[in-house]
Amino acid sequence: MAGVTSDRCPGVLRPHQAADGAMVRIRVPGGRTTGTALAALGEVAARHGSGLLQLTSRASLQVRGLPGVPPTDFEDAVAAAGFLPSVEHERVRNVVCSPLTGLDGGLADLRPLVGALDRAVIADPALAGLSGRFLFGLDDGRGDVCGLQPDLTYLATTKEHGLLLVGGQHAAPVSLSGAVAALTGYARSFAAAAAASGAWRVRDLPGWVAALPGLRPVHPPEPTPLPLGRVGRHASVAVPLGLLTPDQVRVVAEVGGDEAVVLTPWRGLVVAGAAEQLALLLSAGLVADPSSAWATVSGCVGAPWCASGRVDTQALIRSVAGLHTDWPRTHVSGCERRCGAPTGDHLDLVAPSRTTLLAVARPELVAHG
Ligand code: SF4
Repeated sequence: MAGVTSDRCPGVLRPHQAADGAMVRIRVPGGRTTGTALAALGEVAARHGSGLLQLTSRASLQVRGLPGVPPTDFEDAVAAAGFLPSVEHERVRNVVCSPLTGLDGGLADLRPLVGALDRAVIADPALAGLSGRFLFGLDDGRGDVCGLQPDLTYLATTKEHGLLLVGGQHAAPVSLSGAVAALTGYARSFAAAAAASGAWRVRDLPGWVAALPGLRPVHPPEPTPLPLGRVGRHASVAVPLGLLTPDQVRVVAEVGGDEAVVLTPWRGLVVAGAAEQLALLLSAGLVADPSSAWATVSGCVGAPWCASGRVDTQALIRSVAGLHTDWPRTHVSGCERRCGAPTGDHLDLVAPSRTTLLAVARPELVAHG
């Protein structure tokens, strides 16, 4: 069982010690924030750490390069920016939501559900015992979040009704208005069942799923990929290597202001109402071309940031990204842990030599020596 060792998932109050200093993970339920809040967090990252904001595959943010024991000033500043509403629940506020819900497409507007679910999780002492890896999903019917295989998912099937998926393969019907109570109810039941075994994820406890009444097998919809570029009135961009630089944060804040900026689980941003300012976002190095390697190739942080890294994955990707377009979905890892690898089908390159990446980017160069 994967989740029987101690849960060392990092949080703001539980930094992970990396080769480049302490790293903290900041939960952003539904990836939903604003340009103004992102700018405030960027200032905190620059004052105390490397200044980069790193996007994760769960639409969280990471700040790196902090002192080994981050000062309380840092924690206070994260809280003041609105990213630490609960000390007890900070690592369990793991909610992914369809990034374009309520903005473009989808069967239902799930934006209100993000805040309602987050408040319900924070209000429930029993849920503080969930693992930091336990994931809630809110899918507005396009299948994008189901593809991330959350532990519990509300999947809209109409504007007012949907299914509650437990572990992705079994579901019960539930109304939109009853979704938060159903999600937290199942989560409470899982937390109680998991307490004895130390399990982290629903997939670790198939017996618990099998014993739940009223579930039937389901096949979630095929995921619809998130479009890049202009999406209606909105702008959708990829963030190269998932690393937002201080200059990029400044531009996103300028463009987004107090409007919604949605972090996506595919290391991108949706900036609400910003279609007309897409060029400004692109001038900062953000990407709207889906055939660009920056939109399809991701990597773990690798060496020298991570002591386990056998290669500098970021430098490796930078060195070959310009050689080729139309990369398959690819993830490059510095060791077998494959941190940040996407859930769906992808080319999985572990601790590659430069030749391995070149074999993908320019096979003719490798074939002819
Ligand atoms: S995959 Fe390995 S090298 Fe990369 S960040 Fe994770 S532990 Fe470090």
